[in-house]
Amino acid sequence: MTYIITEPCVGVKDASCVAVCPVDCIYATDEDDQYFIHPDECIDCGACVPECPVNAIFAEDEVPDQFQAWIPVNHEYFKAERDEFYSKFRDLIAAAKEKNRDSEHANAELYNR
Ligand code: SF4
Ligand code: SF4
Repeated sequence: MTYIITEPCVGVKDASCVAVCPVDCIYATDEDDQYFIHPDECIDCGACVPECPVNAIFAEDEVPDQFQAWIPVNHEYFKAERDEFYSKFRDLIAAAKEKNRDSEHANAELYNR
């Protein structure tokens, strides 16, 4: 199994989870709108879950219905080429970004660039 980062992370991306992961398996580039957990590296410790200010992280078999689309997003981020990944999920991520735009946790820097 693995843990999955879901929609609420989009545009927040504060890296609180990254700071506590014992195996450093949470990744993103500066250009990405959210963090992603490497499914083959995650040891299912759950340490990242309570650190997330927007409750974006779930065990894969406990992802709520409304965030199910984020399961393939996490898996394919590590399998697909970057262009292929973003052509597939661009609309989904853009919609989440728009939805989270007014979140009190939203990263102002992200939206001001
Ligand atoms: S569950 Fe543990 S190993 Fe997996 S991403 Fe979270 S902190 Fe890292
Ligand atoms: S702690 Fe939550 S919002 Fe922050 S980067 Fe991790 S998943 Fe995203």
